[in-house]
Amino acid sequence: MKKKEREFFRKMLKRQLEELTRKSDLALAGLLDSTVHSADPLDRASEQFERDLALRMLDRDNKLIMKIKKALKKIDDESFGICEGCGEEIDLERLKLRPVTELCIGCKTHQEKLEKLTCA
Ligand SMILES: [Zn+2]
Repeated sequence: MKKKEREFFRKMLKRQLEELTRKSDLALAGLLDSTVHSADPLDRASEQFERDLALRMLDRDNKLIMKIKKALKKIDDESFGICEGCGEEIDLERLKLRPVTELCIGCKTHQEKLEKLTCA
């Protein structure tokens, strides 16, 4: 990958990381803030539901944050954009859509097939 391309992805990932960090900070603050429980069981149930939903989203965001940090580290050591499965370069268009991707389309398809097999 060219230096210019690496810098493009570095900027993109940093922006995503900032947005996600801000979002999950807000979500966390909201969760900590939502300890007041309503006396109405129905309200309580929907509060619980919203809390669960917020927690799941927070968990997903955190996983993505880890992935972005890992990708940024890879940009630094110049291994970014290399497939972890076969060591080939990942298609640039694929990376633009999903810069945290670690597998080329071939390996990804293969992995999904394997997952389907093991889940069946
Ligand atoms: Zn591959």
